[in-house]
Amino acid sequence: MIDDCKKIVQLFTVNRKYIIDQRLYILGPCAAESREQVLETARRIQAACGEMPFIFRAGVWKPRTSPYTFQGAGIEALSWLQEVKTQFGVPVATEVATREHVEAALQAGIDYLWIGARSSATPIVVQTLADSIAEQQRNNSKLNIPNTLKGILIKNPVNADAALWIGNIERLEKTGVPVIAVHRGCNHRPCWSMAHTVRNARPDIPMLLDPSHMSGKAAKVPELMEKIETLALDGAMVEVHCCPEQALSDQKQQITPEKISDFRVQNSEFFSRFARTIIRRANFQSSELELNWLRAEIDELDEELWDTIAARMDVSKRIGEWKKEHGIAPLQPERYQQIVKELKIKNEKLRMNGLPLSEQFMLNIWEMIHEESLRQQS
Ligand code: PEP
Ligand code: MN
Repeated sequence: MIDDCKKIVQLFTVNRKYIIDQRLYILGPCAAESREQVLETARRIQAACGEMPFIFRAGVWKPRTSPYTFQGAGIEALSWLQEVKTQFGVPVATEVATREHVEAALQAGIDYLWIGARSSATPIVVQTLADSIAEQQRNNSKLNIPNTLKGILIKNPVNADAALWIGNIERLEKTGVPVIAVHRGCNHRPCWSMAHTVRNARPDIPMLLDPSHMSGKAAKVPELMEKIETLALDGAMVEVHCCPEQALSDQKQQITPEKISDFRVQNSEFFSRFARTIIRRANFQSSELELNWLRAEIDELDEELWDTIAARMDVSKRIGEWKKEHGIAPLQPERYQQIVKELKIKNEKLRMNGLPLSEQFMLNIWEMIHEESLRQQS
């Protein structure tokens, strides 16, 4: 069995640029907060992973929304990552957002760099980082210093823009360093249609799942991890903290190291699972895998639909309260007629954009929503 798998891997390598022979698991805290927190988290992750290999992550410079929150421990934290590397023998990863970050991280021997979702939304930033990485690689080669950078991880942009994410992959692959895409979703939601587009456009680029930023909730991590199998992803980047309730950033989404065992894949299963993944990916367009991706897209749209309907009912209730206060009846016939008229215009617009829905279908759905609205208002 193992020999068969090896043959498949070799065959596939021909068509795939950056082969990874097992799923990648990048585990560690959102931010490096102190030497003790970093080492304690790494120790417990290693204990929880057992034989399962992992890369340790920790943000040193944190792109935070507010300037009044923890911004990362800065350059000093690189030495804590170096300690993890020597003490536990695992590769380490951190986020870079400026030329100076790249220089400092590479000098410290960081194995993987990741580019965050905010930087990923800005092509000039990504190009600067790509140029800086390429320059470091060239300088090292000139001086006969081995290049130790093993990969660049590129998160999807904060906005759902598949073309921009692909453009970033292209900018980064010019460095010659293997590029790995990380799907972290947008606004704490997955964005499967964007990920699907990128996966189909670049099946040669490994894609990892970031269930932590995708959901913003530690409790959602295990169910999202199941997508690795159903969508044949190449692994995950998960935020793991020794004491999540005391975390200085992304507190709600970090899991404890011991939770890793919930989704831990036995090392012995790795190879056969990977081979199956490859077979499925080789038949990407025709296999059931395509159906799984389409189902992920449709589930996401359904969820948005329900959230929109629930938000609409909430506004409707507020309108009901206003009407009561001002002595106006819940049903206003002229408003009703106006909405039906606009619905017909919308139907025409959809038709012109190649998305035809029958007018009756739209009217039926609208009637049901309207009825529920009146019920909520009464
Ligand atoms: C992170 O991984 O800690 C991070 C900041 O991620 P993102 O850029 O996806 O928000
Ligand atoms: Mn984070």
